[in-house]
Amino acid sequence: MAHIAFIGLGNMGGPMAANLVKAGHRVTAFDLVAASRDQTRSDGAAIAETSASAVKGTDVVITMLPAGKHVLGVWNEVLPHMTRGTLIIDCSTIDVESAKQAHAIAAKHGIASVDAPVSGGTGGAKGATLTFMCGGEEKAFAAAQPVLINMGKKIVHCGGAGAGQAAKICNNMILGISMIAVGEAFALAEKLGLSHQALFDVASTSSGQCWSLTTYCPVPGPVPTSPANNGYKPGFASNLMVKDLTLAQDAAKATGAATPLGKHAQELYQAFDAAGNGGVDFSGIIQHVRSLAGK
Ligand code: NAD
Repeated sequence: MAHIAFIGLGNMGGPMAANLVKAGHRVTAFDLVAASRDQTRSDGAAIAETSASAVKGTDVVITMLPAGKHVLGVWNEVLPHMTRGTLIIDCSTIDVESAKQAHAIAAKHGIASVDAPVSGGTGGAKGATLTFMCGGEEKAFAAAQPVLINMGKKIVHCGGAGAGQAAKICNNMILGISMIAVGEAFALAEKLGLSHQALFDVASTSSGQCWSLTTYCPVPGPVPTSPANNGYKPGFASNLMVKDLTLAQDAAKATGAATPLGKHAQELYQAFDAAGNGGVDFSGIIQHVRSLAGK
């Protein structure tokens, strides 16, 4: 069993650290917020006073933080205190450029590194069923795998430094766009007098079939477990979808890729968010689509 430092104990990091403890690892953790530290202490981890002291003598360091600037800040702080030849993994969703910079700083300190953003949300973090999308050298990925498997069910090596983040934002751009497409289809069906169930029964077994329809249907009824049946409580909040679509747009600009629907999806979620719906599940975008009728 490994000695693992875990930094960033929020909605995702807290339960992920708890799963490492459950798997028998020795975990030393840190977060800026006292309540998060207390929760993780009660889950069985040791709590350090700073990020730098958390990583001393550990085999693996994991970060789960809000954005690129936080990851670069924490990695710059902890890397000088890590033992050469050990491993650092970032599971946050951040921009590809910052992820590449983080890998470069780790290499300077002689530490192997992996970017490993996740899919599966807070339910996946609690249930240890996350999917990890990894970027980094083969050797670093091989060392990360036995650790990540304690927090997830699928681990994919996507390529070199930053490839995990690239896969994450491309996937979530598909998700953001497809949820709007499904919402628009239900909004049109409502105007045409077609029942939700009838559209679902046809589209879910026809060429309109997709995850946003069959697993996460944005109207109540056809898929009883989708957030639409629970007042659009997240799930995956709209402000996180705005974050990921913005990362995709930043990457598209930086690389010169054309993503016209990704750009429009970003604008629609931004408008939904600005109207006070940032904490609403992203499938609630159907409400915004309906509100555009006649405009
Ligand atoms: P969160 O805001 O709940 O947690 C982030 C934690 O990082 C906070 O507890 C904060 O105090 C801590 N933190 C910030 N700066 C720090 C520092 N310098 N040192 C120590 N701790 C620090 O966010 P979350 O929902 O847990 O998400 C974490 C990451 O995972 C984000 O990048 C997010 O985009 C990604 N993600 C979230 C979800 C989701 O459903 N919540 C799903 C997939 C990916």
